[in-house]
Amino acid sequence: MAGRPRVGILSLQGDVREHGRVLSELGAEVLLVRRPAELAGVDGLVIPGGESTTIDKLARAFGMQEPIRRVIAGGMPVFGTCAGLILLADRLEDGIAGQQTFGGLDVTVKRNAFGGQVESFETEIAVEGFAGPPVHATFIRAPAVTEVGPGARALAALDDGRVVAVEQGVLLGIAFHPEVSGESRFHRRFLDHVAARA
Ligand code: GLN
Repeated sequence: MAGRPRVGILSLQGDVREHGRVLSELGAEVLLVRRPAELAGVDGLVIPGGESTTIDKLARAFGMQEPIRRVIAGGMPVFGTCAGLILLADRLEDGIAGQQTFGGLDVTVKRNAFGGQVESFETEIAVEGFAGPPVHATFIRAPAVTEVGPGARALAALDDGRVVAVEQGVLLGIAFHPEVSGESRFHRRFLDHVAARA
């Protein structure tokens, strides 16, 4: 692809900086996206981890919900981690009253699926299509995918069978945080989607 890919990080709340570091290291030009006009200037979007209820509320307050739904429907590559996976899910379990998602992934996601029992943990998981060692995955008050609809595909699951990474076309959603453990293969995959579309 000609030039560097221009990718946005939805910067309403969450671990924006960590994603920015990984994407910059991979050669992308990173823009922080808070407003609809900023969304128009990027070829792909990352929705970071954080708190999905807060990101949802702020997205609606900033008039970003509809523009984000439109770019997803229009085929923009989007990569969501943790809260970002929740926001990409078509169906949500254990959301707070009135909580909405952008949607796009034909999956049901359960918020705080590991909460109470173990709030945070790290483990190694094999991811479909990744060469090299398994992914060292950090789960922080993480969601899990409880149902994968016919439109989406599971990329990784825990030993107990719970799905924690899914892909649907150019949409990628994962329940954990690769950006905190030096894992860049998901970001590369997202950038491949961006390059293929440009
Ligand atoms: N539990 C958070 C939520 O519901 C997600 C946690 C995270 O992104 N690390 O949005």
